[in-house]
Amino acid sequence: MSGTANRPVDVIVVGGGPAGSTAARTLARGGARVLVLDRAAFPRNKPCGGGLTYRVTTRFPYLNDALPRISTHAIRRLYMEAPGGESVVVASDRPTVLMVRRVEFDHLLLGLAREAGADVLEGVEITRASQQSAAVRLEARDGRVFEAPLVVAADGVYSVVARRLGLNPGWPRDAVALDMMEETPTRQLRAVDGGTLWVSFAPGRGHGYGYIFPKQGFVNVGVGYVLSSYSSDIAARPLAVHEAFVAGLRERGLVEGECDRSRFTPYQVPVGGPLTETARGRVFLAGDAGGFVNGFSAEGIYFAMVTGDLAAQTILQGASTRLFERMWRREIGAELKNARFLSQFVFADVSRVARLVRGVRQFPGVASLLVDYATGADTFQGVRRRFMLRFPAVFAKLVVNHFKQRWVAWRRREA
Ligand SMILES: Cc1cc2nc3c(=O)[nH]c(=O)nc-3n(C[C@H](O)[C@H](O)[C@H](O)COP(=O)(O)OP(=O)(O)OC[C@H]3O[C@@H](n4cnc5c(N)ncnc54)[C@H](O)[C@@H]3O)c2cc1C
Repeated sequence: MSGTANRPVDVIVVGGGPAGSTAARTLARGGARVLVLDRAAFPRNKPCGGGLTYRVTTRFPYLNDALPRISTHAIRRLYMEAPGGESVVVASDRPTVLMVRRVEFDHLLLGLAREAGADVLEGVEITRASQQSAAVRLEARDGRVFEAPLVVAADGVYSVVARRLGLNPGWPRDAVALDMMEETPTRQLRAVDGGTLWVSFAPGRGHGYGYIFPKQGFVNVGVGYVLSSYSSDIAARPLAVHEAFVAGLRERGLVEGECDRSRFTPYQVPVGGPLTETARGRVFLAGDAGGFVNGFSAEGIYFAMVTGDLAAQTILQGASTRLFERMWRREIGAELKNARFLSQFVFADVSRVARLVRGVRQFPGVASLLVDYATGADTFQGVRRRFMLRFPAVFAKLVVNHFKQRWVAWRRREA
């Protein structure tokens, strides 16, 4: 075992984003000696909308005391638009989404891990990883070598650890989205309605989304497409796609000001669901590294924190890979599976996006289910049960469609 300055460690966490910091905090509080390695120096930015559903404060109550240390912006209104312009506003009397700037939020989470007792080494980029009989060996670009009995790989969507250990052979093009966005001060670019989260589905008719996320003093504006759809439906280069999207928003009076090219950061997000194998031997994957993102909304921060925490809990309870898979499947498995299914179903035919938006407008009950889910007032499973009882015909149709799709996929595979 070796760690910082030859101090022995029990667990190395690769990556100090939401997944890694949360894992490190839980491990350190559980008495493990933890070392976090990150290639960046914090505070560092991570291209992200920074929208957190409020349930994060129910699942991680310690955030209630910590969040006042950074700038946040609470949102109560969500605007959703289908291609063709049909739209709906879901308003709530309580905040549903908390907007953060990742440069601040991630620094805060890493600080909480440090406060709990985790060691952090910045500027260490891992380029190789291998499992040995008694340890995991990690090699850094600068030649340093680190070893520990157990590793949490929380090194994001391009995870070197997952690739080097053969857990991720590379994301298929329909399992990853290219998100093109900028986070810009409001003196340069501004959302006209700073109190609403604005989302449009299938802009340009591709399998994707566009958004305006207002924050305190900043705005995030972006557009993202599943990579296979970006290649086939969208001809232009990322910056041109983004600038055309912002120009369209400006023409419609939704934003004011100019893009800042220096703040433009295209980045990938895994939307195809978790990898088939999310832990092997001495290594546990958390967050984007394991594909833990809601495939419909592209929400990933919450799932990164949950899987970081569960990987740490598993290690504290004996480090069984089976236990890890059981725990994450129990807590978030159904939600991730359903999100993937919803995404495939809705985007298989973009007219369904309009029907979805119309459905939310027509049945205010659906909107209140959305709010309960986003705020953590009810679990995904609870909300799904209530939806089924309230709209049995719609639910039955969705289930039938689901099995139809699986049958078609099976026939295709057999042919
Ligand atoms: C443009 C965009 C918008 C998004 N908007 C939202 C949103 O509004 N809400 C939401 O919930 N989710 C959003 N997501 C998804 C969200 O950003 C991710 O799911 C989340 O960041 C995953 O956290 P993580 O800790 O797994 O990985 P990351 O946040 O990517 O952290 C990984 C860490 O590992 C480090 N690292 C990487 N490689 C190495 C290496 N080889 N050696 C050492 N360190 C390494 C990195 O420096 C980084 O600090 C968005 C994603 C994108 C791309």
